[in-house]
Amino acid sequence: MTQSEKPASPKNWRPRTKAVRAGVNRAFQETSEAMFLTSGYAYTGPEQAAARFTGEDPGHQYSRFSNPTVEMFETRLAALEGAEWCMATASGMAAVTAAILSGLNAGDHMVSSRALFGSCRYVADDLCKRFGIETTFIDGTNLDAWRSAVRPNTKLFFLESPSNPGLEVLDIKAIAGIAKETGSKLLVDNVFASPILQHPLELGADLVVYSATKHIDGQGRVLGGAVLGNDVQWKEDVLKPFIRNTGPTISAFNAWVLVKSLETLDLRVRAMTAGAAEVADALEPHLGGLLKTIRYPFRADHPQGKIARAQMEGGGSLVALEFDGDPETAQARAFSFLDTLELVDVSNNLGDAKSLATHPRTTTHFRQTEEARMEQGVTPGLVRVSIGLEDPQDLSNDLLGALSQC
Ligand SMILES: *Cc1c(COP(=O)(O)O)cnc(C)c1O
Repeated sequence: MTQSEKPASPKNWRPRTKAVRAGVNRAFQETSEAMFLTSGYAYTGPEQAAARFTGEDPGHQYSRFSNPTVEMFETRLAALEGAEWCMATASGMAAVTAAILSGLNAGDHMVSSRALFGSCRYVADDLCKRFGIETTFIDGTNLDAWRSAVRPNTKLFFLESPSNPGLEVLDIKAIAGIAKETGSKLLVDNVFASPILQHPLELGADLVVYSATKHIDGQGRVLGGAVLGNDVQWKEDVLKPFIRNTGPTISAFNAWVLVKSLETLDLRVRAMTAGAAEVADALEPHLGGLLKTIRYPFRADHPQGKIARAQMEGGGSLVALEFDGDPETAQARAFSFLDTLELVDVSNNLGDAKSLATHPRTTTHFRQTEEARMEQGVTPGLVRVSIGLEDPQDLSNDLLGALSQC
């Protein structure tokens, strides 16, 4: 085998090797992946153009359909996830919207966990309703609720685990079993766990979506998203025509940033996770006083901690704190805490190298009704902290310092 004949992604590579090497497609034996900023492609003649459009010639036609840099990102993320295919999108919400709308028709029904990121709730509720798709929102931790929400026209189950921002953990394997039994597909938004800590397809899910904006970029630079799965026919017949024709395509520049980011994803997510676990425990002295709860999936006091340990390799990089007090006092304490932080930024993004904290009730979830928020645990006293790559001791000191002034 010559060097240029090396296969792009041997199956026996371990995940860390895939994250660095999978999908490499070299034009000039360059070591770093090339950025192909081109919208179109020229053909050798009309015969080749025609063959590209019939599919006999597999080359590129137009960057709304495919692009070499985007393909490198897709191949690498699919390899890391252990998925047969990946389609990248311009944002996480483009991925969620494509995964849901491409496969459903008016008259179909969806069952969704009610603990959802604000925009996911908009798509699954408001938007779907306008196109005649009804969604039943349930307490996702209750397996009987999944089963009893199923109707003859149910086509899709949708969940986030751990959820944003309440860090509710759902039993993906059990829910996948119910989906299979009742003839539905299971779509998992795996943003909070990242491809490093949780593998929904192995647990029985049909589709996985990411906001690559979060841990995959992890440095606060670009938006991006991806849909992944194993059913190649579904991708070809359902998802690909939707993405090609409606155009939620990722830019080659963003895909280039993200393909390079995948090389360090494992290191970053594991370091952030260790930091988050350490910081969550450091706040313990305030539990039962200023703090009603410290929510972290791997803490012994997490209500679904056992499921988290069974299906995740680590608790992730997010910690949720709930301030005690009546609603007004709790929110005032949360605001005072955020105002007093010196190192951690107040920002609604997450998964960044920089630690960020937000008050979901007045930011990411402010457009929802109070009733929907309370169902998800988005209370006035809730603060979500995304632990970055700073020294965990400095982060603990910052959070403890702010707590001491609340
Ligand atoms: C951020 C986020 C999204 C949306 O991703 P964007 O890249 O911002 O469009 C979807 N789901 C979850 C859980 C998220 O945190």
